[in-house]
Amino acid sequence: MLIPHKHLNGISDSVVVTMCIVFLVLNIRQVAKIVLSLGAGFSPGPLFNWRGWTLNYKTHHVAALIGAELWLLHTHQPVLSWQAAAALLGAYLAGPIADMDHPQSDVGRKVWPLAVALNALGIRHRTFTHSLLFLAGLWAALQLLPIPEVVRWAIWIGYATHPLMDLLNEQGVELFWPLRVRVRLLPGILAIPVDSVAETLLRGVMTAVSYVLLFLYVHPAVDHLPLMGPVVSEVAEVIFHMMPYAIQTWIR
Ligand SMILES: [Zn+2]
Repeated sequence: MLIPHKHLNGISDSVVVTMCIVFLVLNIRQVAKIVLSLGAGFSPGPLFNWRGWTLNYKTHHVAALIGAELWLLHTHQPVLSWQAAAALLGAYLAGPIADMDHPQSDVGRKVWPLAVALNALGIRHRTFTHSLLFLAGLWAALQLLPIPEVVRWAIWIGYATHPLMDLLNEQGVELFWPLRVRVRLLPGILAIPVDSVAETLLRGVMTAVSYVLLFLYVHPAVDHLPLMGPVVSEVAEVIFHMMPYAIQTWIR
């Protein structure tokens, strides 16, 4: 593991707890959506894209959750902890944020003054907010927040999954902005069109993966239960060994 796991202190904990309570009170509907979000990941998007070229925000939420779950497994963060809840929540919310550079995106419509300002500054979609430069700046900014290390990294990972997902799309991303080079990971024929059946299918698969990871993460907490424990343990072990070796070693 590259990042030293700092001890969480009292101030960090109370900041996170306060933030969570404020969030729960202010966003009770959103919270209900988050609880249901693993299921919502299976819901279809429109078959035709008429909005431009932002991947569906739900795809970004699910990708961010997967990132955070892998991170929690990697750091062995206890399941029943505020830090784990805040890490999942933070990453989930951070997932679609990069699309604040597109006034018609889900996030862009919520923070439209910011989206309009970015466009007025000449920041085009999938450039600055999707770049490695922005990711580096975000990492530095997160260091200033008095939150636990595990939450900080989860938020950053959640955000970082966004450009990664957009790289699977045919329009790609200006990853090295301000260099105007568009990068994409898949050749045109395999690239995932925005809000397409392919994207919906991909999101369905990703949602299933996020369920599996969540199960693997939670299983140590239910392992000791009578009757259920040994079964859960056995299933977890089987799933674990079905995963690619690189992920297995990263998690363990
Ligand atoms: Zn995007």
